[in-house]
Amino acid sequence: MGADLRIGVLYGDGIGAEIVPCALAAVDAAAALEDVGIEWVELPMGSSAISSHGSSLPAESLAVLDTLDAWILGPHDSASYPPEHLRMPNPSALCRKRYGLYANLRPCRAYPGVPATTPGIDVMIVRENSEGLYADRNMAVGSGEFMPTPDVALAVGVITRQATERIARQAFAIAEQRSRRLTIVHKANVLQLTTGLFRDVCREVAAEYPDVVVDDKHVDAMAALLVRRPAEFDVLVTENLFGDILSDLAAELAGSLGLAGSVNCSATKVMAQATHGAAPDIAGRGVANPVSIVASAAMMLRWWGNRDDDPRLAAVADRIADAVAATLASGLATADLGGSASTSQVGEGIVQAITKSAGSGS
Ligand code: ATP
Repeated sequence: MGADLRIGVLYGDGIGAEIVPCALAAVDAAAALEDVGIEWVELPMGSSAISSHGSSLPAESLAVLDTLDAWILGPHDSASYPPEHLRMPNPSALCRKRYGLYANLRPCRAYPGVPATTPGIDVMIVRENSEGLYADRNMAVGSGEFMPTPDVALAVGVITRQATERIARQAFAIAEQRSRRLTIVHKANVLQLTTGLFRDVCREVAAEYPDVVVDDKHVDAMAALLVRRPAEFDVLVTENLFGDILSDLAAELAGSLGLAGSVNCSATKVMAQATHGAAPDIAGRGVANPVSIVASAAMMLRWWGNRDDDPRLAAVADRIADAVAATLASGLATADLGGSASTSQVGEGIVQAITKSAGSGS
């Protein structure tokens, strides 16, 4: 079978080398059942790329990513890079900016069989990825964070109508596919002009989606309400920093950051990336939860199937998502979920569950 899809793989730092292979194995197993051929294109990224190529995301990798529609970005431990690399955008910020991956979709739901702090949680956090309070990606040249003197640090946040309309339309389109409830998350009582503009533009876009029920919350209240009344919320749309923080919170409420998959996308390209980082505290021990990156890979294929109207890719994504749920329901779990299975045992469990689904329509 020839390759239908060429997909990049960047293993990255920390637990990347342990969890990313589980995603590849799950995709290969599910794709084989749908007669989809995959060619994996391995590209350097992270500390090892600094040693071999002098950059955490070398020009050689970018030249290939330019030609791809999809790739899996493993985690990077940028805080550990040598000082001269700390001043540069990290690999994920670089990809998000270079390829215009303006939407970061971060679903968090409690799985049956997994102990969750808030069992009722099932939300999709739609995070604006290109501007907001993340000063590393909101200037054409230089960083929006700077120090006029060693004792004074400033950061510039940017919110534009154009980027807000774009992310709002993405969030409303997702809400239409889910339970038609959307919450705009902002802090317009304090950051009146910036997050106030975000709220107001989202409200304007809401007029295009009359079937969706809209409300809005301050980000601090939202954090409390996710803990107290999670079942009231479905799709949350918010700016970059708030989305980053709320998605880690939601992932832990659902059981573990190790469950949290995500994609970064534009209209034409998609990058699968776990919500969490490189987890250096547990790296190399074979105990990291691979579900986050496996779930991210499934989301990537679903996005691709939607873009090209290819039901085979939706079926591959369904097989992976069903196998993840079945594996977790069986009690096979890594230490973050209270289990004793290794990363590779959970990865193999997911592949076995996919293989078992052969013959079924997924
Ligand atoms: P970043 O800013 O790059 O997202 P971070 O500082 O938020 O990184 P993480 O690397 O995400 O930190 O780790 C936060 C905590 O979650 C750590 O205790 C880590 O061990 C745990 N963790 C992260 N990913 C996993 C995983 N896949 N399985 C188990 N535990 C994880």
